[in-house]
Amino acid sequence: MQERINKVVVIGAGAVGCSYAFAMVNQAVAEEIILIDKNEKKAEGEAMDLGHGVPFSPSSTIIRNGTYADCQNADLVVISAGLPQKPGETRLDLLDKNIKVFKFIVQNLLDAGFSGIILVASNPVDILTYAAFKVSGFPPERVIGSGTVLDSARFKYMLGQYLEVDARNVHAIIIGEHGDTELPVWSQASVGVESLDKVLRRRGDPNDREVLESIFNSVRGAAYEIIARKGATYYAIGLCLTRITRAIFNNENSILPVSCYLTGQYGQSDIYMGVPAVVSRSGIREIIEIDLNETEALQFAQSADVLHESIRSIRASVELIKNR
Ligand code: NAD
Repeated sequence: MQERINKVVVIGAGAVGCSYAFAMVNQAVAEEIILIDKNEKKAEGEAMDLGHGVPFSPSSTIIRNGTYADCQNADLVVISAGLPQKPGETRLDLLDKNIKVFKFIVQNLLDAGFSGIILVASNPVDILTYAAFKVSGFPPERVIGSGTVLDSARFKYMLGQYLEVDARNVHAIIIGEHGDTELPVWSQASVGVESLDKVLRRRGDPNDREVLESIFNSVRGAAYEIIARKGATYYAIGLCLTRITRAIFNNENSILPVSCYLTGQYGQSDIYMGVPAVVSRSGIREIIEIDLNETEALQFAQSADVLHESIRSIRASVELIKNR
């Protein structure tokens, strides 16, 4: 009997796709990783380079370049393909072009008979995940966006630095759009086994509130700051995608703020947004509705308004593919 292996296909072997593949090899999360890129030579070169590191991986991983035929028996497809914004191009123009790329990719996945989970990283992630969901006709639990997992990681890291505790002991999340309207859920933040409020009271720093506000501003502006310095962000998202993949492949039931399709939760419907959800082998097992205070609920609704606006602008093109 052939043993069950975890196979992932990465579509878009750019900086994000390859950082993800590198983290996957390092952490030995999958037995087989296939890279696909419209630039076939690049995918081949990246697979060769990554493969040469396999002797140092905790366990053996097959890594190679491939074609859409490889998706047929894949468990997971991670989409990190995208076109960069050109000077003078609006975000809407870029969105329009990336929707076309996504239609092409999903059409190829369907033609290959892919029946696993789609995990989207390309930006704007909530909108492109929505498009992948509509175009594929897959159940929503099998179409997931990386959501605010990265933003929440940045948040934990920066709070951990300020509070001088291990970032992994900071339980605080960012929800909403992966973008300018995202929001921190201060009301539910905790450190170790204490509420953040209690920890702050004990520290007695009179500038706490301003510092926390500036930490959130740094989280929200992190991508801009990194892009201004090095042109792109990719290592941390590679690790976030690896974390989500591990939750899926190991059936961990881990709670992660991924982009999920909402059907009434948080008062929102027909939209993908970053909210805490239980991630398991079948994808999104359950969306968790945490209590938000009045300010947070209002900010969440405003974030949803912005995403609904973008969805309206693409609805015609995603419906069109659905009815092909
Ligand atoms: P990149 O330009 O380095 O890589 C993109 C790759 O996609 C290129 O290799 C390109 O050839 C390939 N590609 C384009 N069209 C394709 C198609 N039709 N089929 C297959 N491959 C195709 O860009 P990057 O830095 O790797 O970023 C990729 C995406 O990830 C961007 O949309 C970026 O905004 C996004 N991103 C998301 C997060 C997040 O938190 N979700 C974080 C960082 C970056």
